[in-house]
Amino acid sequence: MNTPEQPKLTPMFEQYLQIKEDYKDCLLFYRMGDFYELFFEDAEIAARDLQITLTSRSSPNADYRIPMCGVPYHAAETYLPQLLEKGHKVAICEQIEDPREAKGLVKRAVKRVLTPGTVVEDANLTAKGHNFLAALFWDEATGSGGLAWVDYSTGEWSGLALNKLSELWQWTQKMGPRELLLPDTVTPPPSFALTDTHVNRMPARPAFDHAAARDRILNAQKVSDLSVLGLESHKELTRACGALLAYISQTQKQELTHLGQFKPLNLGKHLILDEITERNLEIFRRLDGKKGLGTLWHVLDRTQTPMGGRLLEERLRHPWRDIGPITETQDAVQHFYERDAMRAAFRDKLREMSDMERLITRIQLNRATPKDFIALRNSLATLPDIRATLEQPDHTVGYPTADEAQLLNAPEFLQKLLKNWDDLDDYRSLLTRALTDNPPHLLTEGGLFKPGFNEELDELIELTEHGESRLEELLGEEQRSSGIQKMKLKYNRVFGYFFDVPNSAKDAVPEHFIRRQTLANAERYTTPRLKELEEKLLAASDKRKSLEYKLFLALRETVAEARPRILFMADIIACLDYWQGLAETARKWNWTRPELHTGREIIITEGRHPVVEAVQGTANFIPNDLRMDDRRQILLITGPNMAGKSTVLRQSAIICILAQIGSFVPAREARIGVADRIFSRVGASDNLAQGQSTFMVEMTETARILRQAGKRSLVILDEIGRGTSTFDGLSLAWAVVEELARRADGIRTLFATHYHELTALEGRIPGVHNMNIAIREWNGEIVFLRRLVPGPSDRSYGIEVAKLAGVPGPVVRRAKEILADLERKAKASGRHTVSAPPAQPALPGLPLPEPASSVTTKKDEPPVPAPDHPLLTALRDVDTNNMTPLDALKRITEWKMLW
Ligand code: ADP
Repeated sequence: MNTPEQPKLTPMFEQYLQIKEDYKDCLLFYRMGDFYELFFEDAEIAARDLQITLTSRSSPNADYRIPMCGVPYHAAETYLPQLLEKGHKVAICEQIEDPREAKGLVKRAVKRVLTPGTVVEDANLTAKGHNFLAALFWDEATGSGGLAWVDYSTGEWSGLALNKLSELWQWTQKMGPRELLLPDTVTPPPSFALTDTHVNRMPARPAFDHAAARDRILNAQKVSDLSVLGLESHKELTRACGALLAYISQTQKQELTHLGQFKPLNLGKHLILDEITERNLEIFRRLDGKKGLGTLWHVLDRTQTPMGGRLLEERLRHPWRDIGPITETQDAVQHFYERDAMRAAFRDKLREMSDMERLITRIQLNRATPKDFIALRNSLATLPDIRATLEQPDHTVGYPTADEAQLLNAPEFLQKLLKNWDDLDDYRSLLTRALTDNPPHLLTEGGLFKPGFNEELDELIELTEHGESRLEELLGEEQRSSGIQKMKLKYNRVFGYFFDVPNSAKDAVPEHFIRRQTLANAERYTTPRLKELEEKLLAASDKRKSLEYKLFLALRETVAEARPRILFMADIIACLDYWQGLAETARKWNWTRPELHTGREIIITEGRHPVVEAVQGTANFIPNDLRMDDRRQILLITGPNMAGKSTVLRQSAIICILAQIGSFVPAREARIGVADRIFSRVGASDNLAQGQSTFMVEMTETARILRQAGKRSLVILDEIGRGTSTFDGLSLAWAVVEELARRADGIRTLFATHYHELTALEGRIPGVHNMNIAIREWNGEIVFLRRLVPGPSDRSYGIEVAKLAGVPGPVVRRAKEILADLERKAKASGRHTVSAPPAQPALPGLPLPEPASSVTTKKDEPPVPAPDHPLLTALRDVDTNNMTPLDALKRITEWKMLW
C-alpha cells in the first residue's frame, strides 16, 4: 500500500490501517456516518472501477494527501455488484457502536466480506444460472484429488473425487465457478486463464487441512461420520469441502446453517459431457464465448421461473444415463405437450412466481429486504392457483390421446406430486396480515407492518399517523366540558402543546388546567392528559420504528423456520416448470418423443439441428436420417467444406443429449441407445479461440478420447488431423479410426473428414461405414443438397467451394490447372491423390497400413464383407411400413439424382 514512510496518523487512520491489515486482499468499505469511504490504493481502484471522483484527505504529514473516495451507504448496493463483477472482494466495515454514545473513536469491525462466489443478492446473480464457489485440491503424493462446489445463494453443494489432475481441471472448467479456492501447491493450466473464474490462492495449510476439514464438515452438516456424506474414502474431496466451509465462515461471519446435505456427484448415473464437448456443441455459449442466440440453451429454454431455469441448466450439464428417470420425465413432458390450453394457463401462473429458493435463503441468512418478503408472499399466493390449473387439465384442446379416461384421472406422476403439495397457506396469510404492500427499503424506518397485526404497534401507528386528530379530539372534549368555545390548541418549541384561552373566558377555566404562561390577552394551559398525549406522540415515532424492527426480526425468524417447506415446494415448481418448458419448446419446434433403449443402436429419422433450424427457418433446413447399429458403428462422413458435415454431426449429438434429459427431440422419429459419455472434438483450424498450439490441443484431446471412450460412448470427431501436413493428418486420422474400431467392439463414432482417402477403410475394418453429404455439379458449379447419403464422396470440390466463396476467377482457373497437373503426375506414378474408390488402398505416397491386429480377419473367421453399393444400403434402410407412396416416390427421385 502506498502509505508514506512512518507517517503520523490520526487515531482514525490508525484504526483503519489496523482493520485493513486483516483484509489486504479486499477493498475495505469503511463506514463513516452516512458514507462508506475507501482510502489509499483501495480508493484509486474503486474510483477507477466505479467511475466515481477520487478526492484526497489531508494527513498530519503536510506534504502527503491520502487518496479517498466514498459512496453513500444507502446506495452501496448499486456499486457493489460492479466491483464483484470485476473480481474484487469487498470487506464491509461498520460502526459497531452508536456514535452518540461512543467515548472517543467509534468502534468499527468488518461485518462481512462480499466475494463473487458467495453473493446472494439478485443484482449479483444470473436468475437462471448457478453461482458456484469451488475448491480444488490435488495431492501429488497420492495422485488423487477432489473438486467441491457450493451455490451459496441456494445452499446446494456437491463435488467429485478424481485421480487425474487434468480431469479435475476439465471439471472445474465445466462447472465454471465464479470463484475458485486453490492451494498454492497446485498451478492452473494455461487455458484456465481464459475463463471468467477468479482464483484465490491460499496456503494448503491451514485452509485445506484434513483434520480441520473433517471437523468443519461434521459440524456444519450435524452428522457424526463422513460416511453419511459419501466422503469417508475421499480425503482430497474432504479437504476441498473443508476449504469451502472455512472460506464461507471467514467471509460471511455467520453460522453455516443453510447448506443442504452434501451430495457427491455420482458419475455413474450421468451422461458425462466434458467442457470441450459442451463448448463445441454450443450448448450454453457459442464458440465465440457469447451467450444467447445461436446456442442450444436459447432454443431450448422456455422455463418461466429462475428455479426451473436452474434445473434445466443442471440437467443439461449432467443428463441422465438410466432410462428410468428419462422415461418419467418424458411422461411428464408429454402430459404438458398434449394440453395446450392448460399449459398456457399454467405458464401464465408460473410467471408470477419469484425465486422462492433464493428468497428464502436470503431470509434465512438475514440478508433479505422487506421487498423480498413481499415477493415471497406473492409467490406463495400463486401456489393454490398453480395447483388448480394442474388439477383441472384442459383436455378439450391439444392432441387427442387414445384413452379419454386417462385424461380425467391425473397421471401417476401428477397424483404423487399433488398429494405432497403444500400451499403454505399459513405463511402466506401471516405475511399478508403482517406486511404493507409497499414497504420501505430500509428496515429501520418503520412503515413495514399493516394495522391489525400487533396491538401495541397499532397504537403507535395510530399515534404517528393520526396524532393530530387525537389532539383535536381532546380539544373538543375540553371545549365541551368547560363551555369555552374559543379555546385553541397551539404548539411552540418551548412549551410544546398547550391550550390557549382568551382572557374573556379566563373564569371558566376548569380546575385541572395548569397555567404555563400568561400573555397580554390570553393564558396558556396544559393538562395531565394533554401532557401524556404529547409525550406519547413524540415518543411514538421512535417507538414505532424500534417496535417494527423487533417485530420484523421475529417475523424473519418465523418465516425462516419454513425454509424446508418452501424449498420443498420450490423443487416441485422447478420440476413442473422444467417439464412445461420442454413441452412448450417441443410444441413450438415440432419435436417428437424419442424411444430410449440400452442397446447401441441410434436411429434418427429426419433429424434437424435445432439451432441451425431456428436461425435459418424450418423451411430452409433439410432434415437428415442417421443410422448407427452393429454393422455401422463408425460413420465416416465425407463431403466438401460447407456441405453440412458439422451440422449433421452436431445435431446427432444434440439429439442424444436432449433425449437423455427427458426432452423431446428435433426429428420425426428417434430411437436412441443411451450413452455414458459424449465426446465432441473439432479439428484444430475450427477452434481458433485458443491462442496456443491448436494441433497439440487437438491431439491431446484425441488421445483422451481414445483412453476414455467405452462401449456406450458416442464420439463426434470433426475434421481431426487438419492442423498438420496432409500426410501426417491423414495418417493420424486413419490410425484414430482404426483404434476406435478396435476398442470395446467398436466405439460409436461420427467422423467427418475431407480426407476422402479414409473412405477406403470401409470393408477393411468392421463397423466402418461411409456416408457423404450429397452435392450436385451443375454447369461447373456445385449445389449443396445437404442430404446425408450412404457411400463415400467422390472428391473434395475444394476449388468449387473456393469459387462459391468469391475467390477471383483467374485464381480458380489457375488452381484447376495445377490440380489437373498434379493428378496427371500422380496417375503416371501409379498413385491416386484425389479420388479413391472404396476398398482401395488410397493413401498417397504411403502403402496402405495393415489393419490393427484385433480387427485383422483371422483365418477361421469369415472375411469382412465388401461394402455394398450405397444404393443397396439406402434401400435397406428404407422403412416401407412407415412411408407414404409420395415419400417413396421422392426417395426414388433423389436416388436418380445421386447415382
Ligand atoms: P461442413 O462441416 O461440411 O463444412 P457445415 O455443417 O458447417 O459444413 O455447414 C455449413 C452451412 O450449411 C451451415 O452453417 C448451415 O447454414 C448450412 N447447412 C448445413 N446443414 C444444413 C441442412 N441440413 N439444411 C440447411 N442448411 C444446412
